[in-house]
Amino acid sequence: MPEGHTLHRLAAQIEDLFVGRRWRVSSPQGRFAAGAGRLDDRVPQRAEAWGKQLFVHLGPDIWQVHLGLYGAVSFRGDEHFAGAPTLGAPRARLEPPTVRRDEDGWVVPEPPRGAVRARLRTEHGWADLRGPATCAVLSVPEYERVVARLGPDPLRERADVAHPDAAQAHAADPDPGPSGLETFARRLARRRIPIAQALMDQSIVAGVGNIYRAESLFLERLDPSLPAAELSAESVAALWRRLGAQLRDGVAEGVIRTLRPEDASRHDPARRHWVYQHQGSPCLRCGTVLAVRELQGRSLYWCPGCQG
Ligand SMILES: [Zn+2]
Repeated sequence: MPEGHTLHRLAAQIEDLFVGRRWRVSSPQGRFAAGAGRLDDRVPQRAEAWGKQLFVHLGPDIWQVHLGLYGAVSFRGDEHFAGAPTLGAPRARLEPPTVRRDEDGWVVPEPPRGAVRARLRTEHGWADLRGPATCAVLSVPEYERVVARLGPDPLRERADVAHPDAAQAHAADPDPGPSGLETFARRLARRRIPIAQALMDQSIVAGVGNIYRAESLFLERLDPSLPAAELSAESVAALWRRLGAQLRDGVAEGVIRTLRPEDASRHDPARRHWVYQHQGSPCLRCGTVLAVRELQGRSLYWCPGCQG
């Protein structure tokens, strides 16, 4: 499943390519025909990600997308329509399109391939959404109810408390509200579930998936089965900062790389993760054989030697 960094890249790309321009919206597959009709021929004003959700604002209507396990958006168009060709679940790479234009000068899209839930079109190209878990048009109150259920997203943090300059910049704010870290800490403190399970709960922290939870717990030397409420304040703060740093790297690089090349084994310099999907091989930090087990239907990877 795409983790939060992919949704933030998607929001940025939609912001670049569509926001402030009139777009055409259709549902070639038909399942989103009514919603597409509400969004069509309007000017999107803002795109944002919150955890694993994308929201595109068009005044009183908000387009909500959750990619789920299989969703992806592909982008095709002319030289003014540049960006990642696909964001979301991996897809076959397509050749650049042969650009043809209609009488208005708009790029003519290729016929839809497969089940395209929503097609977005502007002058310079088009984007196809396939396989989302959620694709809906929300009213403002509905949007507010959705985001009220989401935990803090480390990528949306206004003031990263770990960064002294940022803390100073917000010192003059008369009502800064609870920081993401404060909310994260408060929600963990109420739960007895294992911290590894808590990190996957989008109402506790939004945007973390299976890879970031395994890698952040490893790097913070935290036992995945420790009850969430038993983490020290220092561990909670360090974990929050770690997740933020990892997600920011993911946005910058477009892939999840938690193991820097200089830390990777010289036998496998391309390795990207410390523990994720490396069960059965020795821990790069302590040599213990890495383990995997099922937790709430998802595989949890960790080092039984140096975590906890
Ligand atoms: Zn270890």
